[in-house]
Amino acid sequence: MDCLFCRIVEKQIPSTVVYEDAEMLAFRDINPEAPFHVLVIPKKHIGSLAEVTGADEQLVGRMLGKIRDIAAKEGLNDEGWRVVANTGARAGQSVKHLHFHLLGGRHFHWPPG
Ligand code: AMP
Repeated sequence: MDCLFCRIVEKQIPSTVVYEDAEMLAFRDINPEAPFHVLVIPKKHIGSLAEVTGADEQLVGRMLGKIRDIAAKEGLNDEGWRVVANTGARAGQSVKHLHFHLLGGRHFHWPPG
């Protein structure tokens, strides 16, 4: 399977890594939609949130905990930040490897477009 984010995990494609451990990678989005825009992905291939199984739920919880930690470390808590997981074609998911967008540094509208 040729997956862009699996190739980033394997370091076959360069990225600006913000955090890495045995099970997840956080790196800067190449086309940032906010002053702070990081993607947090599992190292194992999971297609989207819709494909998360019970066996992956603790991993997903740890990813969200890491997002909380990164947001705090980056000083985003005072003004607020947003997590987005586009899931499926109609939601605009362009890379079919689970990723959470962590966005901060500007005002975010609601409802999202
Ligand atoms: P989505 O549209 O929700 O699937 O998000 C995919 C994200 O991956 C987009 O925000 C892209 O800008 C980002 N992206 C695509 N290729 C790369 C890359 N090589 N390095 C970093 N981010 C990327």
